[in-house]
Amino acid sequence: MDLAKNLARVRPLLGNATLVAATKYVGTDEIAQLAALGFLDIGENKADAYLEKRAALQNLPIRWHFIGHLQSNKAKGVVETIDVLHSLDSLKLAAEIQKRRAVPLACFVEVNISGEPAKNGVEPEALADFVRELAKYDKIQVIGLMGMAADTPDEPRIEASFRLLARLRDQIQRERLPHAPCEFLSMGMSGDFKIALRCGATHVRLGSILFRNEA
Ligand SMILES: *Cc1c(COP(=O)(O)O)cnc(C)c1O
Repeated sequence: MDLAKNLARVRPLLGNATLVAATKYVGTDEIAQLAALGFLDIGENKADAYLEKRAALQNLPIRWHFIGHLQSNKAKGVVETIDVLHSLDSLKLAAEIQKRRAVPLACFVEVNISGEPAKNGVEPEALADFVRELAKYDKIQVIGLMGMAADTPDEPRIEASFRLLARLRDQIQRERLPHAPCEFLSMGMSGDFKIALRCGATHVRLGSILFRNEA
């Protein structure tokens, strides 16, 4: 794996979007290498791995994103220390954040845009009420929406999911809620980030395209 080369290939495709490196595939050496190359937005998806890597790298000016599903019983230590949460999807987790945070946490509300009922995320129909409800938690700032498309080769279907998320973001933004400026869209992974960027992604979460390809 040549990380610098992979980054050089991906970066010109991103425009102004923020690359959040999904580092579950790699250890602290690769994260330090990313930071040295100027990529400081690091996303972990498991509480234990996050806590370990953060402790090992605390001298680096990394912005830590938590991108995976976070169960409220695993929130301790995580919500106090992360910079951005991409997966706020329940009031139970919101209550944990409220309890543990000293200063407001920048959160993406995760929306289930896959069309598959078993997936994580607030259902699109329930989103507006969910976001309004979050006004009660002054430690939560809703900076945007996050969604994952279905894992399918059907590109029109993926695009429809991302367009839906963009529309939902626009709707929330129009409410001008002080706790939910909702500017950003976290969508797109290695297999579908080009589609996501076409649909207005402001944050793409990339892992395998950076860390997995040979040659
Ligand atoms: C692993 C992961 C990604 C990146 O996936 P790739 O397909 O490897 O780019 C993005 N988001 C979340 C939540 C992940 O766990």
